[in-house]
Amino acid sequence: MKGASVKLKLTAWITLLMAALFCLLLVFMLTISSSVAYRTSMDTLIETVKSNLSCVSLQQDGRLQLSDQFSFYRSGVSTLVYSQSESLLAGQLPVSFTASEPFQNGLTRTVETGGSTYLVSDLWLAQGWEGGVWIRGLMEAPAHEEIAQNLLRIAIIALPLFLLLTALGGWMIVKRSFSPLESITQTAAAINEARDLSGRIALPRGKDEFSRLADAFNGMFERLEASFEAERQFTADASHELRTPVSIIKGACEYAEKYDETPQERLETILMIHRQADKMTSLISQLLSMTRLEQGTELAHLQQLSLSDLARSVCLEQAYSPEKVIVQADDPVFVQADAALLSRLVQNLVDNALKYGKPDGHVWVCVSRQDDTALLSVRDDGIGIAPEHREKVWQRFYQVDSSRGGQSGAGLGLSMVRQIAQLHGGTVTLESQPGVGSTFTLRLPAVPAPCGQTPQDAPTP
Ligand code: ADP
Repeated sequence: MKGASVKLKLTAWITLLMAALFCLLLVFMLTISSSVAYRTSMDTLIETVKSNLSCVSLQQDGRLQLSDQFSFYRSGVSTLVYSQSESLLAGQLPVSFTASEPFQNGLTRTVETGGSTYLVSDLWLAQGWEGGVWIRGLMEAPAHEEIAQNLLRIAIIALPLFLLLTALGGWMIVKRSFSPLESITQTAAAINEARDLSGRIALPRGKDEFSRLADAFNGMFERLEASFEAERQFTADASHELRTPVSIIKGACEYAEKYDETPQERLETILMIHRQADKMTSLISQLLSMTRLEQGTELAHLQQLSLSDLARSVCLEQAYSPEKVIVQADDPVFVQADAALLSRLVQNLVDNALKYGKPDGHVWVCVSRQDDTALLSVRDDGIGIAPEHREKVWQRFYQVDSSRGGQSGAGLGLSMVRQIAQLHGGTVTLESQPGVGSTFTLRLPAVPAPCGQTPQDAPTP
């Protein structure tokens, strides 16, 4: 049974269970059948004797009179009429009843006689002060062995038939119940063989276990397909982005070998190679940190910090011109965050605002608090983003126009911004109007100021 299918095991189990039930029922029937038969015979005997008694009367002269309803033999009961002195007046004693059983009014009992067992019931019909007759009913007691044998005979014929029907019915029910599982297995195998994740399990919608399992599998296939597609896209984009500077470097080297003659020309080529190498380094480090963040190898060290101080210190460290980048972060707003990651987020947003802003434009970095939410917004009065690009700018390697914003950047900045925000349990949104400017807003859960610290004493990230 070890290697058998679940369907076979279930059918065998149902059949065995039914066989056990059948046997139990048989034992129960054998136990109660003889006592029921005995009880029924007694009732018949008493009933018959009583009804015959009502058909007997005695004349004034003592003569016996039996009405037409009186029957000497009915339903296996022989009825006899005896005189007071116990001599037989009417009726015929069964041949095998040889006992001289004393009369006992109203008592029904069993009597062993001539190798048979009889049920005997007597009733006394009185007449006058002294006279009367005995009405005696005799009936052969039901034979236990015979009943048991009959029952066993029926069981021997019925049991195999019953088990066959149970096994067949059980197999059909189990097979039908398991058919959705068959479909799930087939679809999963087909997906596996064809290595095509677009297949789905086609089961009618329902609330049973199999429908829920199919839904869960379909959901899993959907996620796997999306993640494989994203992975494929990422690999293609990353290799494309890395190939571009490599090709430029290769081309520059070949050109320099052939045509660069003066030290000035060679210096220019070297500078260009340097720029491309820088771009590759930045791209690789961005890709690495995004992958680490995704895989959880770059762990966030969360600590309570002032978002206002963090915004100010990023602008100071990056040496943004205070006339160009205006920080409005007077209210102390605290969050639970990783200082390095959040600084990278702010820097990415401000760098973008400067990159895509007007040459004489401004960038505003504002920190505020709205109920339990800390807000950090980076606004510029630059070129803005058209509505059709607003959702896509969050995707890796997406650039509205790669010629905009100079050579730097590979379309990874905003994707990282969103990743960092989500890692902190926050969100980042974009509002923009082409030609007017863009506002990126980070929302994080605000936390109370650290104990014993005034906002001014808060740690600088
Ligand atoms: P990139 O390295 O190209 O800047 P990002 O992921 O940071 O990559 O941004 C994706 C695209 O979104 C950019 O190519 C740019 O077209 C657009 N973008 C980002 N920030 C701004 C902004 N402040 N103003 C206008 N366009 C922006």
